[in-house]
Amino acid sequence: MKERPLLMIPGPVEFEPSVLSALGQPTQSHIDPQFIGVFEGAIKKMREVWHSPSGQPFIVPGTGTLAMEIPAANLVEPEDRVLVVSTGYFGDRYADILSRYTNKVTVLSAPLGGIVETAHIEAELKKSEYRLMTITHVDTSTGVRVDPRPIGKLGHKYGVLTVLDGVCSVAGEELKQDAWELDVVFTASQKAVGVPPGLALVLAGPRAVNRWRKRKSRVPNYYCDWNQWLPVMEAYEAGTPAYFATPAVNHVRALDVSLDNILKEGMEERFQRHRVVGKAFQAGLEALGLKQVPLNKKDRAFTLSAPYYPAGVTGDRLLPQIRRAGVVFAGGLHPEIKKNYFRIGHMGSTCFRDVLASLGALEAALRDCGVSVNPGVSLTAAQSVIVSENSETAV
Ligand code: PMP
Repeated sequence: MKERPLLMIPGPVEFEPSVLSALGQPTQSHIDPQFIGVFEGAIKKMREVWHSPSGQPFIVPGTGTLAMEIPAANLVEPEDRVLVVSTGYFGDRYADILSRYTNKVTVLSAPLGGIVETAHIEAELKKSEYRLMTITHVDTSTGVRVDPRPIGKLGHKYGVLTVLDGVCSVAGEELKQDAWELDVVFTASQKAVGVPPGLALVLAGPRAVNRWRKRKSRVPNYYCDWNQWLPVMEAYEAGTPAYFATPAVNHVRALDVSLDNILKEGMEERFQRHRVVGKAFQAGLEALGLKQVPLNKKDRAFTLSAPYYPAGVTGDRLLPQIRRAGVVFAGGLHPEIKKNYFRIGHMGSTCFRDVLASLGALEAALRDCGVSVNPGVSLTAAQSVIVSENSETAV
């Protein structure tokens, strides 16, 4: 494994050998009784990971973008007004998706690196009658985390469905779907859930399902329609197969293994590991004098970091040097600053060892680009966080 680079991008992430091995097992029939049991297990475990005993899971072959489209297609009708709270590229993508289902889309955009204040959202909800609003828990283009709690409350107060894009958060950042009054929370397999790209994972709460049942018009998207998927999910959970579109058999098996691993670690322990990993990595970046995209420390995600390049350094020079040092980081994504910053994912299986290896590679690459770096300065800062926050599990 000496030549294997350490993958530290915000998805796909590194996957556990047990998950990869499950993916590589001989493919079974989707109606094999053994597979039915696996599917049933994965559905039930999703409720635990999402903290949503009342929710209906959907496991659909596809990616996070499909997971975004599923609530849009099922919950929005042409006359509905929808509100997008955008903290970056993926919020803006949501507005584009929703605009295929209604032309009444309002976007509240945060300043770059900032969040939209709750009072601002409430003022907008008071102004017009909205059917649904979307928030991005962690926008992967800015590294900004939004607190969904006050927004979920507002959704209940004003009778608006709240949809959370949890693609860069579920199974990494703290999240309690039912307690936080979130109607739909979705992710994709390749991030903190820890399964290679290929699954859209959506959990719809009872308010969302009830509203969908009362639709006046037909769901205008064949593949996304819950009329197709709900009977399949219900059948597998009840121990019998059903067919709409071929289940991603190997991926579902891998998902079941990964959800098991996640639950064995313990949700609170997992949230805490991500918290410490994120804070340690970001303390390392601060020690290197790198400014970060989130404007406020409290809004920095724990699942990824988004630092700006130092003066005089470009991504074209720095990123290949980091790769030569054995670690893979990602470039920028937000169109306004794409060439000015880079991104590091630290979610899923990321451990303290990976944080130290990545900071070491970053220091070496910065030196190669002519930046003066005190050797070990970022590692010392990261280790101080690890020791003070989490002494028992340090490296
Ligand atoms: N939402 C967020 C927050 C994301 O980070 C991503 C992917 N990076 C998506 C949606 C879209 O997911 P996918 O690329 O799997 O379609």
